[in-house]
Amino acid sequence: MTSKKSVSVFGVTGSIGASTVDILKSHTDKYCVEAITAHRNVDALAKAARDLGAKCAVIGDASRYGALCDALAGSDIEVAAGEEALIEAAERPSDIVIAAIVGAAGLKPTLAAIRRGVRVGLANKETLVCAGALMTAEVVKHGATLIPVDSEHSAIFQVLEDRKDDRIDRILLTASGGPFREWSLADMKSVTRAQALAHPNWEMGAKISIDSATMMNKGLELIEAWHLFPVPEGRIEIVVHPQSVVHSMVEYCDGSVLAQLGSPDMRTPIAYALSWPDRIKVDAPRLDFATIGGLNFQSPDLERFPALRLARQALQEGGTLPTILNGANEVAVEAFLNDRIGFLDIANTVEKMMTKIGSSALTSLEQVFETDALVRRETANYLASV
Ligand code: NDP
Repeated sequence: MTSKKSVSVFGVTGSIGASTVDILKSHTDKYCVEAITAHRNVDALAKAARDLGAKCAVIGDASRYGALCDALAGSDIEVAAGEEALIEAAERPSDIVIAAIVGAAGLKPTLAAIRRGVRVGLANKETLVCAGALMTAEVVKHGATLIPVDSEHSAIFQVLEDRKDDRIDRILLTASGGPFREWSLADMKSVTRAQALAHPNWEMGAKISIDSATMMNKGLELIEAWHLFPVPEGRIEIVVHPQSVVHSMVEYCDGSVLAQLGSPDMRTPIAYALSWPDRIKVDAPRLDFATIGGLNFQSPDLERFPALRLARQALQEGGTLPTILNGANEVAVEAFLNDRIGFLDIANTVEKMMTKIGSSALTSLEQVFETDALVRRETANYLASV
């Protein structure tokens, strides 16, 4: 009999968090739960803590500490609150950490988990975009294992294992194209919040749904892929694939293309990050190829989706430019969600900030945090002035 692996889940109340809870609840023979965290959603955090039998529940917003204590009264679940408590939760002993906080806010806890040298299932792509090579250097230094949770990167990871780097010709990162794949630029000017949140294939949190609509999500994934896989930037291509059945592909030097396919259900890549190198049963809908009928592929349109161009530029120029791209995007997406700017203003704002702030060499994690804070201030000031 093998012993259970202990798991901590950061961002347990979100879309990835809920899918992770679902898997953990169906495999209680294999996993037990150490710490779980949320930002403000006390009720969902307390429910997940009781359902999972977690040892500890942490709420990032310190003002919700009392509410969390009340919600977990009578249980023996430890309670903590605040940013430092999130880091301490990542330092608690667990075999696996699922990093599913949204945005750069996840960086400090994720780094704390990496520094324990454990397995980190990374959904929180913004951390890798922001901190890039500094984060992967920490992974190597502390002997941690980074397993991608993003469906595209999980697909690549699954077909890349045991393959030698010099045999890879291309990575083909698939993109659904989002809800506005066929819209004209003129029509995209008046996109509403509700339209942008309605992704055709995936049910996700608000921020990644907007990123998918602007295709900034694919831009962030391009940068993420470059940090995770040993392929030069020019050999990572984005292919629009509206059905979201092929989750990504790797082309080898002999012309073979290996792909991973599945229904658009995040439980599959999350389960793989938990069970790797083994596999566990997931109740995801199975593909019915006769019903699907055909799979389509097309090139992305960089004019209608400038975020793709900006992300590639950030990757090519490097330094702090990806940190700037990410921070400006987070602030602009928030402004769009609050009906303060239009849909096309999101990428315009990111481009303005990339030009205004300009990049410098990235040498320390401290600089990542400083740059992120600076970009957020500058972007907020800019948006307040327009
Ligand atoms: P959600 O918005 O659904 O959930 C975000 C989670 O992070 C919630 O638990 C939220 O807590 C918590 N959180 C938000 N802000 C903070 C903060 N400042 N400090 C601490 N915790 C915080 O996001 P998703 O689950 O959709 O996405 C999470 C990450 O996974 C993102 O990086 C996304 O890009 C990535 N991802 C998501 C996919 C998906 O299908 N959803 C697919 C692939 C990647 P609370 O609920 O209390 O606000």
